[in-house]
Formats: sequence, C-alpha cells, structure tokens
Amino acid sequence: MKNKYSDILKKLKLKITPKRIEILSILDRENYFKSPEEIWQLMKKRFKKIGLPTVYRNLEDLAEGGVIFRIIHPDRQLYYYFCNNKDHHHHFVCISCKRVSDVDYCPEKEVINYVSKRIKGKIISHIFQINGICNVCMNIESSLGGTK
Ligand SMILES: [Zn+2]
Ligand SMILES: [Zn+2]
Ligand SMILES: [Zn+2]
Repeated sequence: MKNKYSDILKKLKLKITPKRIEILSILDRENYFKSPEEIWQLMKKRFKKIGLPTVYRNLEDLAEGGVIFRIIHPDRQLYYYFCNNKDHHHHFVCISCKRVSDVDYCPEKEVINYVSKRIKGKIISHIFQINGICNVCMNIESSLGGTK
C-alpha cells in the first residue's frame, strides 16, 4: 500500500496500517476538525467491526507521533485535525462550523523574554490555538440578526 499517507507515516517512523491510512484520508478530505465518533462512523464503512476504542487509540498514536493535531474545544471534547503544513504554525478554529485555518504566526518569540525574566525559566514547547468564529459564520450571524 503506497500512497501519500504511508509516506507521511514512514517519515515519522510510525507503523503503517490500513486503519491509520483510512483515518488520515478521512481527516484530509476537508479543513474541518472531527470528533472520534464521527471518524468512527466513517471508518465503519470500510472496517465493519471496528470498535470506538480502536479509533481512539489510533488517533492518540497519530497525535503523539505528530501526524495529526488535537483540537482543544471549549465544550471540553477532544477533536482531531490533519494538516499537511510541515512548517511550525498554529491554528484558528471556528467553534461554530469547525473549520480550521492555518495561522502563520507564533507568539513564542514574544514570550521568551517574559519567561526568562519573570519566571526565570526556559521554554521547551508551547501550545497555542485560537478559538473563534470564522468570517463565513460571522456573515451568517449578522444576516440572521437582521441589523446590518
Ligand atoms: Zn465558521
Ligand atoms: Zn495547519
Ligand atoms: Zn509556535
């Protein structure tokens, strides 16, 4: 089985399995994050007997391996997103329509000074995700509100 997903897994030295490739191709179809349950429903078309725990485990393995992103949502559920952008970047997440946009901006540089001076520590890694409402959803909201 040779395709772009097996190449991605191989590069990160992760085991290549048909289920992992299916998960990546499901997540890669759209720029929207998905819940494990949604992915599970789509997986069942190909893997009839697959259980939700298997999907959870594979998603976590892929997230640990750096292939997919965990999306931290205000509803406290965990979602996942596949992004093929290999440069260091962050994500803007629309909590209304679930669309994810790449953010080519990293606040680390601005925080380094603060951490070294105020906390007297050093940064090893950071998590930065912006939750918001995308422009499409904002337009829908304002048209529904009727006050333009
Ligand atoms: Zn939106
Ligand atoms: Zn991205
Ligand atoms: Zn960053």
